[in-house]
Amino acid sequence: MRLSRYFLPVLKETPSEAQIVSHRYMLRAGMIKQASAGIYSWLPLGYKVLRRIEQIVHEEQVRAGHIPMLMPTLQSADLWRESGRYDDYGQEMLRITDRHGRDMLYGPTNEELITDIFRSHVSSYRDLPLTLYHIQWKFRDEIRPRFGVMRGREFLMKDGYNFDLTKEDALHAYNRHLVSYLRTYERMGLQAIPMRADGGPIGGDYTHEFLVLAETGESEVFYDSAITDLKFGDRTIDYDSHAECQAVLEEFTSRYARTDETHDEALFNQIPEPRRRSARGIEVGQIFYFGTKYSDAMGAVVVNEAGERVPVHMGSHGIGVSRLLGAIIEASHDDKGIIWPEGVTPFHCGIVNLKQGDAEADAACDALYAALTALGLEPLYDDTTERAGAKFATMDLIGLPWRITVGPRGLKNGVVELTSRRTGVSEELPPEQAVARLA
Ligand code: ATP
Ligand code: MG
Ligand code: MG
Ligand code: MG
Repeated sequence: MRLSRYFLPVLKETPSEAQIVSHRYMLRAGMIKQASAGIYSWLPLGYKVLRRIEQIVHEEQVRAGHIPMLMPTLQSADLWRESGRYDDYGQEMLRITDRHGRDMLYGPTNEELITDIFRSHVSSYRDLPLTLYHIQWKFRDEIRPRFGVMRGREFLMKDGYNFDLTKEDALHAYNRHLVSYLRTYERMGLQAIPMRADGGPIGGDYTHEFLVLAETGESEVFYDSAITDLKFGDRTIDYDSHAECQAVLEEFTSRYARTDETHDEALFNQIPEPRRRSARGIEVGQIFYFGTKYSDAMGAVVVNEAGERVPVHMGSHGIGVSRLLGAIIEASHDDKGIIWPEGVTPFHCGIVNLKQGDAEADAACDALYAALTALGLEPLYDDTTERAGAKFATMDLIGLPWRITVGPRGLKNGVVELTSRRTGVSEELPPEQAVARLA
């Protein structure tokens, strides 16, 4: 992409309404624009990152054997009356009446809708196990929307639902989700720690939240610092193997790590004192096993091998896709701007032309652009006539992992400059070598 043809409305001033760094940088980098409280337009740069995050979530869900689909944002109130949650959900639910006077709502989550789909089409244990998921906009009328996309009212969530014959199978689905989430967050360059949590309005005894440690997080958490040494890494796992998934769950949940709702001071004090931590965290996902809560209420039953009709065991599993942008920036930035992890960066590298209009510099930039594109990489080429300082400031703000700087003086010696956004280290290299580095 050539910057002169792109839409990147960078702000010079720091917006006064933004209280935390991720919100400030998202506004300043022209990624989002507030449409109304807690509701945002995704401008091209923000949209690109959102799509990359979504893509990673899809890939890891499909890898785990989960099936993508799409349910609507608007739902009928009738299903929620069946489960009993229409009244229970309270004011976070946006209720709408259509022209015929029918009660509708903008879905805050999808247990009812998916259970209805399931009971309409599945009646035999032979069709289990089954896990369906979608990535769709949700609406929750948060009392205090704030921090930009971190606590929006409209937000993008991946929510998945497993249907299993037995509790054992459903707990395997739970473990499988835990493993797939560990992989998902690590691919985004994030450490998200599974912590024992509270069921809340979704219900259920088995639940973990995934938290990214950050001072601006809204959750209070307590953990054994040894847990931060655990990495999932690039190990391969057989998602069908109960034993393998269970082993990962045990590895990642055997250390003390809890949110304030489930915090147990006595247990916490058994951790050696130097490893005890209390901190703030951002909830980027949560998994639940809730047994037959919805299948009982809504009649989602299958016939088992013995010919008996039994309610299915279910769980639901969410990732805060749009919140993740904020969480990643909170975890990865400096005083100049965002530092995107390679896995989610909107462009692979920036090209800065120090002398736009100089025939040689322009030609060198065009050649770099073509070479990078031919490798399947997507560069953002600043081909504007801004002065160098402003070009560098924009590149630092939008946080691309690499910058190639091209100017007449370097070209005389046959070199361009390759700079890492994370380390700030620059190297002079012939253009072909700079390209090879990024390949
Ligand atoms: P929170 O405690 O932050 O209100 P939640 O526990 O109500 O979140 P869940 O029902 O567990 O949320 O939804 C799954 C995920 O969706 C959360 O882990 C979070 O990452 C994301 N999420 C929830 N509410 C919002 C919101 N208002 N804005 C952005 N993302 C959200
Ligand atoms: Mg909430
Ligand atoms: Mg929560
Ligand atoms: Mg939650």
